[in-house]
Formats: sequence, structure tokens, C-alpha cells
Amino acid sequence: MISILRHDLSDVVYRLADDVASLEVHRDGVSKHVALWIDEPSTRNRVSVARACSDLNFKILDSSPSSGLSIAKGESLQDTFMVLSRYTDLFAIRTRVVSLPLRIYAWTGLPVLNLGDGWNEHPSQALSTLIAMHQSDIASDKATVAIYGDFDRSRTVRSVALGVASLGGTVILVDPAFVNAPRLASLPSELGLPGSISVAADISKVEADMLYVCRPQRERWNSSQASPPPLRVQEVARFKMVLHPLPRGEELSTDAWEFIREQALNHVTRSYLTRRALLAALMSGALASSDEERYQPNLPTNARCSADDCTFRDGCLATLRLASGTLCCSGCFAPCA
Ligand code: ASP
Repeated sequence: MISILRHDLSDVVYRLADDVASLEVHRDGVSKHVALWIDEPSTRNRVSVARACSDLNFKILDSSPSSGLSIAKGESLQDTFMVLSRYTDLFAIRTRVVSLPLRIYAWTGLPVLNLGDGWNEHPSQALSTLIAMHQSDIASDKATVAIYGDFDRSRTVRSVALGVASLGGTVILVDPAFVNAPRLASLPSELGLPGSISVAADISKVEADMLYVCRPQRERWNSSQASPPPLRVQEVARFKMVLHPLPRGEELSTDAWEFIREQALNHVTRSYLTRRALLAALMSGALASSDEERYQPNLPTNARCSADDCTFRDGCLATLRLASGTLCCSGCFAPCA
């Protein structure tokens, strides 16, 4: 202000007011921006969105909490996203908080690309799997997809299973211990989807068009739950197509990984291209955010956080604060006392 005051202040105000007015009107040719929010570790999503934005000439605004947002000063999430919406054209969100992408869409009305919300959903990852099936001429309404891995806590499994069931296909959750799957298996009927999800114990007896494998999601476990045994090469080799979202954990033997490695890496490329196509479609308005979110089940969000349901209680309650209460990573909403 001191250097401005060396000029005639009324002249400065007059000239800048004109500039601001013309900037408000003439926004043609201004680059499109993507506000990227990441509050959990990420390689493929972070880098594929960065690469896609560079390909599409979109600029990234680093809006992650670690970039020093005023959330640290107590600004609510809702206020934060309403403010960010004035700088950006689209949000790309990777978060520990279940249903945060839907809330951002409700708060701002801007398109939101969900890059994974806690244990809930991973729509872009699931879309790349549905696209892989389409590219291999697997008719989605007749497809049978076997899934092996962590059914309870994997958002990619949940989204792939709900995606296949939404298209009328059949999902078989291969759960050797038979303890985790029923919760997910009941979702197609709860959500009125045309397909089905069932459970099988023995992978050697399962017939399917595709096997989808996913690692145990240890970062979301609060118990000593046992991992499913690593798949052997002869178990994966029975399937024409085997996909894995990566990163891998203990769910594949070394030989089985060698067997699927090329397919898994090709799927990394496909997933990046899917995100690029999604970003372009959401930015142009060809795809509305609500369409992209159709795999979101209606999760209860008005229950108080309880130690049994919430595995990240201590890590999140301080930072993910809404105006009216606290949103926990498990999607539990605790109103202000
Ligand atoms: N990369 C996927 C995800 O973000 C799968 C995983 O982490 O296992 O959910």
C-alpha cells in the first residue's frame, strides 16, 4: 500500500476498477484450472492427473491440505471448498474422507473427479476396468468377474463390483475365509442394480471372464484380520484377463505377479487415459459430475463416530472440520456439541 500511495490513490482505484470489470466480463482464452486435493498417499492418481492436465493444457492448482491451507487455522472444509471454487473450474479429489467428493459437488456445483474417497469408492479406477472389458469384447451385461482380495476395505473392489452389477453383470467375490464378503454382496439389491454379487470360497472352481485382484488394504485395518493367501500362478493362469489396480501387497505369489505384470502395467496406462478422458469430458460439460458419481452408494453420514467403525479417529478429527461438526474418515459425522 505504501508504494501505491506514492501515486494518486483515486487514479489507481479508477484504473484498477476498470481492469477488474473487464476481467470479470472477458474470460475467453483464460486457461482451465483443476484444483487438486490429495490428503492420502498417491502415485498413480497424482501423477496421472498431472500428466493428463499437461496433455490437455489444463493448469493444476495445488489445493491439498499439506500446501498450507487455512484449514490449519480452523477454516471449515465447506468454507475452504466454496472459496477454492472461485479459483478453479474442476476439483480432483483423493481423500481419506468417505463421500467428501459428493459433498464438494453439493457445496460448489463444480465438476468433481473422485480419485478415491477412503474405503468407499474409486470410480475412475473402476471405469478403466469396465473399459478394459469393453475393449476385450466382454459383453458387460453377460460378464462374470471374479474378484480376489480385500472386499471390506478396498474402494476399487467396491467400485468395480458395483460397476459390473450396474451394467447387469455377475460378480463372484472369492473369499477363502468366507468372512468379509456378505456386506458388499447385499449392495446390488439394496441399490436396485440389475446384476448380482455372490461369494465363492475356492478360486479353482470359479469360471469367469476376468479376474480382478486387489491387495489387503492394511492402512484401513484396525484388527489382526488375516490376509487371503497369495494366489499361485496356476490359479491366475486360468483366466483370460487378470487386472490389478496396484500397488500390490501379499495377494500374489512372485510367479503369479510375473504372469500378470504386463497386463497390470498396461492397465496403469489405461487408467491414466481413462482419467484424461474423464477430465476432458467433465471440463467440457459432456459428462456431468453426478453421472460420474453414480456408483456412490448412499452411506449413512449422520451417525456419531464410534471407535469400532472408525479406524482413523485420532488422525482426522482435528483437521477435517465442517462448520457444523466433524467429518471422520469413515464418513461418520459428529455434530458440534
Ligand atoms: N490404488 C488403489 C486405490 O487407491 C488401490 C489400492 O490402493 O490398493 O485404492
